[in-house]
Amino acid sequence: MNILVSHCFLGEPCRYDGASRLDRQIIELHRAGHNLIPVCPEVLGGLSVPRTPAEIQPDGRVLTEDGVDVTAAYQAGAERALAIARENGCTVAILKSRSPSCGCGEVYDGTFTHTVKPGWGVTARLLEEAGFEVMDEEHLQASLYDL
Ligand code: SF4
Repeated sequence: MNILVSHCFLGEPCRYDGASRLDRQIIELHRAGHNLIPVCPEVLGGLSVPRTPAEIQPDGRVLTEDGVDVTAAYQAGAERALAIARENGCTVAILKSRSPSCGCGEVYDGTFTHTVKPGWGVTARLLEEAGFEVMDEEHLQASLYDL
């Protein structure tokens, strides 16, 4: 199966702070025979590494910690990620929890106080609305390891 994954899971240092989030259970999916298609929506949207952290606001805009509106870049990255998912025949996406792009069901609340609330990252929401099965690394389905 072709699975769209957050690029930072594979050790790519694309996070806002220039770090990665290498995740062995995602690597294990590759060993189990799946083809992992990596995307970093924020980089695809034209943002740099490192970059100022951003969070989704109650009105839906994405603002950096210093108040710059980066909603358009987040949206562009989400649309690019969706196109890549379709081009590669993916039906499942596994994305990084709580990210303003990749978060699935839970995101930071926009106050930059490490407070989470129910919600979706911009890319995760677009993929979910387009009919993809979207989950984060904390809710991986055991069935993905049974080929
Ligand atoms: Fe990882 Fe997604 Fe953030 Fe890129 S946008 S660094 S893939 S969580």
